[in-house]
Amino acid sequence: MQNELRKSYDINEWSILSEIEPSAVGCALCPGSEEKTEETFKIEDKKGKWLVRSIVDPYPLTHPTKFKVKEKERIFNTINAHGWSEVVVETRDHTKELHELPSEEIKNVLKVYAARVKELRNRENVEFIGIIKDNLHLEFEHAYSKIFTLPILPEQIKEKINAFNDYQFKTEKCIYCDIIKKEAKGPRHILENDSFIAFAPFSPSENFEVWIIPKKHYTCISELNDFEIFTLAETIKNILTRLSVAINPFKYGMVFYLRPNKEKDFHFHIKIFQKTLHPTIKEGYGINLCKISPENIAKILRGN
Ligand SMILES: [Zn+2]
Ligand SMILES: [Zn+2]
Repeated sequence: MQNELRKSYDINEWSILSEIEPSAVGCALCPGSEEKTEETFKIEDKKGKWLVRSIVDPYPLTHPTKFKVKEKERIFNTINAHGWSEVVVETRDHTKELHELPSEEIKNVLKVYAARVKELRNRENVEFIGIIKDNLHLEFEHAYSKIFTLPILPEQIKEKINAFNDYQFKTEKCIYCDIIKKEAKGPRHILENDSFIAFAPFSPSENFEVWIIPKKHYTCISELNDFEIFTLAETIKNILTRLSVAINPFKYGMVFYLRPNKEKDFHFHIKIFQKTLHPTIKEGYGINLCKISPENIAKILRGN
């Protein structure tokens, strides 16, 4: 079955139905397995050896099928999960987690995010681009993150955009620029460098939640210069290392909030948090992920 985006009967909440299950045969992300996956982008060393690569996601959230709204009616609202899903292989080393890599290598991961986001923005029916990362290893044992596009804007992102636009309309200022000023001093401040600030948000939605915001008003990770990307790598490494000491077991999620494609303005930021049992896409963007379709659940429960 192709993945589907389905809206709740009553509330404005979307679910992605994806019944594709990971296979447990070997590691498809390790060096030597390159031909098993379809590469979209890579960063190489001087000898042509890949350091970080992006591949077509074997367990995609969205597929590049023809975009169509299947049924637009009051009860069943469905869109085929049109879009592109990629997996970023963060290192050649099967045993290393993202925060254990040197900042220079984390910088390469962020450079791949930036390059892929920049390219995916130009494709058709891309309203939203998400970047999600966790260390649960649900699909691969190797360190990886996911980049995907959606043909809709998740409700949680719509709310963020509405709040951003509303604040700008009333004050002629950016809410995130003002948040930085307020949180730079005070009890929730964690760290700060030339380009970024990290703090525990005033009203967190998850345990051990940390926001990282660029001090300059950038709308997307793809606008950062080389030095700023390196500084972001250092900031992420620093926060993850601190969290790895504070949380036991150390299970975290990280999501990026970038300017949606149809919006002119935004101030991009990153949320890192302690993982719960929810999928990271739910904690980050408010999208449900269903690995068994309701039709199959009913079949199981009916006993046929
Ligand atoms: Zn591996
Ligand atoms: Zn701003």
